[in-house]
Amino acid sequence: MKHSIDLFKKVVIGYGVRWELGDLIKELGISGRLAVVTGPKVRRLVVEQVIERALDGFSVDVFEVEQPTVEVAESVSDLINSQKPSLIVAVGGGKDIDVAKYVSRRIGAHYVSVPTVTSHDGVASPFTSLRGMETVYSVRTSPPIAVLADIEVMASAPRRLAIAGAGDLISKITAVRDWRLAHRLKGEYYGDYAASLALMSARHVFTFSKTIARLTSEGLRILAEGLISSSTAICIAGSTRPASGSEHLFSHALDIVASHPALHGEQVGLGTIVMSYIHGINWRRIKKTLKKLGLPTTARELGVRDEHVIEALTIAHKIRPDRYTILGESGLTRDAAEEVANKTGVIANDSEDLSE
Ligand SMILES: [Zn+2]
Repeated sequence: MKHSIDLFKKVVIGYGVRWELGDLIKELGISGRLAVVTGPKVRRLVVEQVIERALDGFSVDVFEVEQPTVEVAESVSDLINSQKPSLIVAVGGGKDIDVAKYVSRRIGAHYVSVPTVTSHDGVASPFTSLRGMETVYSVRTSPPIAVLADIEVMASAPRRLAIAGAGDLISKITAVRDWRLAHRLKGEYYGDYAASLALMSARHVFTFSKTIARLTSEGLRILAEGLISSSTAICIAGSTRPASGSEHLFSHALDIVASHPALHGEQVGLGTIVMSYIHGINWRRIKKTLKKLGLPTTARELGVRDEHVIEALTIAHKIRPDRYTILGESGLTRDAAEEVANKTGVIANDSEDLSE
């Protein structure tokens, strides 16, 4: 069986590295016209200075993204295509990068990913997820040609957004278990190297949870490296399997029943508690770590009703029928969903014993 791997060429990570963007692009052998895809706030705080100080010799067009929807991505795509840029530069959070990935796929141009926040592991993965797409999960694009992560910029992001990435990393614990299960029960391709890499990024969160919780430069660097590693695992696997399992299905289901109630990393973190319980692994440790990081561990903290969590648990298996997970083909019954949510303290009865 043939398996081919598409990877980025270069990752630059460090304090103040945004000023090296022009050098990085030249190093990649690219010159001429750049199309920067970004949000209005990041444009004002980061992009304008970078264009002035670090993109000398390039002609730069900036495209602002308001909403991460397919319609927005398509109209931005048409505008960018008419400029015929040599490269797309995505500067911003997951939404801006997702739009840039979509544009890159549509017009066939490379993109550089410049994440400004450590909120999830889509920063360097070859998959994009936009509202209004034919699926609620993700479609394949290409990985970025390079990734540039400036810790100084990431340090100015709101705490809630920054820490959410830790929840996305913890979710690899159940994602990899679901992948193994699909391999054993359905004969699906499984790559131990990609699985181990994804797990390592999750383990880093446990090992360095105190440092990450403080969001110091060191904590942000660990988080950013973990997110890039997880993206790399996706590139190596050629699918989101090492990074997305039943806990992601739960999060997508919650987006449907409660219309995108919280951040992706917050939702999958909570999903990981429940799915680890079903997998029979140490869910208490996961819950404790999420608490330590200040991430939500209950429906209430997530800003949804208990009923939303229960409903999402019962429909999660239907989100993506080709993705076999611990939820099986028929999913959880309502009673079972209520019981797991109760036992893990995710819904109202938050009196479970975490001391075991
Ligand atoms: Zn994720």
